[in-house]
Amino acid sequence: MRALTIGRYQPFHKGHMNVIWEISDVVDEIVIGIGSAQISHELDNPFTAGERVAMIRRTLELNGFKGMSYIIPIEDIQRNSIWTSHLESMTPPFDIVYSNNPLVVRLCKEEGYEVRHPPLFKRDEYSGTEIRRRMIEDERWTHLVPEGTLEVIDEVDGVQRLKDIVREEDSYGRKAE
Ligand code: NAD
Repeated sequence: MRALTIGRYQPFHKGHMNVIWEISDVVDEIVIGIGSAQISHELDNPFTAGERVAMIRRTLELNGFKGMSYIIPIEDIQRNSIWTSHLESMTPPFDIVYSNNPLVVRLCKEEGYEVRHPPLFKRDEYSGTEIRRRMIEDERWTHLVPEGTLEVIDEVDGVQRLKDIVREEDSYGRKAE
């Protein structure tokens, strides 16, 4: 059996990692879709699709992941009604979907997929929003992401990128007033 899970992974954190581990306990192969692949260099989406692929690939390798996985960037499209077909056109066929995102759940169920809800791990801390906030405010965040993600963020100077984005948005906002 092959399962699909999809997320923006901005960044890929330990909650996401636990979900991959749980899914791989019950299926033979896992397709990890990297959503909103076309978006990067924004406050809510600082990392490119390629950087997110690297975070996940390295995390799987460093943790000795034994299962079969495909990591596939998926760009957003304008029409939700055909998004599942778009997803299918970019991935190997899959039998079930794991997601807690209400729109993903709805669209996949409407196409007849069985959707399972992975458990949430420490949602208050293992959260992309919380991790990005901590990066910007110089609070402790490195314990919330796996080593593979940490390496990639270091290599691309991701924290500085995020801080620059905040500063540029602030300064643009002031100029625009
Ligand atoms: P996300 O990174 O916020 O979350 C990914 C998954 O991880 C979710 O199922 C979430 O429940 C889970 N998760 C998050 N924190 C967790 C924790 N602490 N413990 C366990 N699990 C945790 O990404 P998302 O927003 O759900 O991604 C959906 C993607 O699908 C987006 O990129 C969205 O744009 C895309 N999408 C696009 C269209 C379209 O283009 N029309 C339609 C639907 C969805």
